Amino acid sequence: MTYQAIIVGAGFGGMGAAIQLKRLGITDFTMLEREDDLGGTWHVNRYPGLAVDIASVTYSYSFEPNPWWKHWYARGAELKKYAEHVADKYDLRRHMRFDTVVEGARWDEDAQEWEVRVAGGERLRSAYLITATGFLSQPRLPDIEGVGDFAGTVLHTAKWDDGADLDGKRVAVIGTGATAVQLIPELARRAEHLTVFQRTPIWVTPKLDFRMPRAVRALFARAPVTQRIARTANTALLEAIMVAGVLHYRQAKIFNKGAALVAKRHLRKQIADPELRRRLTPDYSFGCKRPTFSNDYYRAFTRDNVALETTSIERITPSGIVTTDGRETTVDALVLATGFDMWDANFPAIEILGRDGKDLGKWWRSTRFQAYQGIAVPGFPNLLSLASPYSYSGLSYFTTIEAQMKHLDRLLTEVRRRGATTFEVKDPANEEFLGWVTERLDDSVFHLGSCATARSYYFNQHGEAALLRPSSTLHNHRAAVTFPLDDYAYA
Ligand code: NAP
Repeated sequence: MTYQAIIVGAGFGGMGAAIQLKRLGITDFTMLEREDDLGGTWHVNRYPGLAVDIASVTYSYSFEPNPWWKHWYARGAELKKYAEHVADKYDLRRHMRFDTVVEGARWDEDAQEWEVRVAGGERLRSAYLITATGFLSQPRLPDIEGVGDFAGTVLHTAKWDDGADLDGKRVAVIGTGATAVQLIPELARRAEHLTVFQRTPIWVTPKLDFRMPRAVRALFARAPVTQRIARTANTALLEAIMVAGVLHYRQAKIFNKGAALVAKRHLRKQIADPELRRRLTPDYSFGCKRPTFSNDYYRAFTRDNVALETTSIERITPSGIVTTDGRETTVDALVLATGFDMWDANFPAIEILGRDGKDLGKWWRSTRFQAYQGIAVPGFPNLLSLASPYSYSGLSYFTTIEAQMKHLDRLLTEVRRRGATTFEVKDPANEEFLGWVTERLDDSVFHLGSCATARSYYFNQHGEAALLRPSSTLHNHRAAVTFPLDDYAYA
């Protein structure tokens, strides 16, 4: 049997694509999901303190507003519920197959369709392949000697064991990224003692969070336009931060410097000890690495039961962590807040072989990471790769998802109008787009700021900031509905 489309991934990206397919009248598709339930990031991540740090009026589908968010920034469990609600409302569950690990996909030139290989040997076929595997979906274990030898509890934040009891325990956290910033205050309250191993400090600004007043929720429900206004205002603010502070660093450095000052003042307000402040202060430009928002992260380090360790880790032993100065910190539990492998294990998350056996992962690595409009690649007919280089625009993932839904809509409508069965982006269009993003990045903090010490996952192994699309989200959404249809070849 050949499906019209196979979607790999049942997170918000995959569900957005599925909703768009249904709007186009395409219902003959399946969604293959590695995990045992839907929701992607919000199913997998269950660590204490998990919340979104983009306000929920913005971090949700614009066409499916939820007036009932309990907080301005929804907690993880609420986002998972929202994902379930979307799946039910748009009748997506019956398309989903869980515990289905896709290993690879191959373009079958003779049949003009994709053959998708599932772990266990099953083969599925489809006309279109849409990979929605996310950016932060391959947890990274630190390459520290002895990490496998630790005898106590080991938890990666993206593989949290709900039964793990850290109350009253001696706990070590490795990592100080956005995840750790949420987790550390929680662990500080629970653990007998917490040692935080920091390699690179992170910029943290205040998080203007609050419980949504009942009256506001009722207003959002009764008059949806009010929530749309809140969304527009909040999205515009995020956009200003991103466009002025990060992408147009050359022209608007002052915004970037201003954000760094806000973060430094936040640190000063929460931590009196100048030496501790110094150790928590980044030495790279704001925005080189994803900044974070928290009201209780810095304060956690002022507790008697919390220690910040900045000496490099030498190795992990069965009982704890040895630093390069020979000291051992003995702990009962080790929490790895060490993030995700974006540039080796992801991009693409599965093996994808296109026309003439062209291997997408190898091609990206041997040339440059690239994708036309962050979604299509020459040599890969009928493939839409949602988690592609230069695809992420804005701060909320939903702005990217919805732009990609529009691109999919315009493209597949054209395929149908022409009575075609295949589409493939043309080389010159792809090259032009790559040239355009490359040029625009010249103005960004990634090129002009001081990013060398940031160790940011925005940069790939070639030193290119190839994740973010260097344009406003407005520009992205406009491009999604106006890109030249002749940028694709149809057959
Ligand atoms: P991350 O930002 O990649 O941070 C990983 C941390 O682990 C870094 O501090 C890193 O240090 C450290 N680390 C990794 N390997 C290490 C090693 N061998 N030795 C010592 N330290 C090591 O990962 P994350 O915190 O999970 O966040 C990933 C992304 O998830 C965020 O940037 C954000 O986009 C997303 N996120 C979003 C939210 C939200 O609310 N929207 C919340 C949490 C996460 P170095 O910096 O020195 O490499």
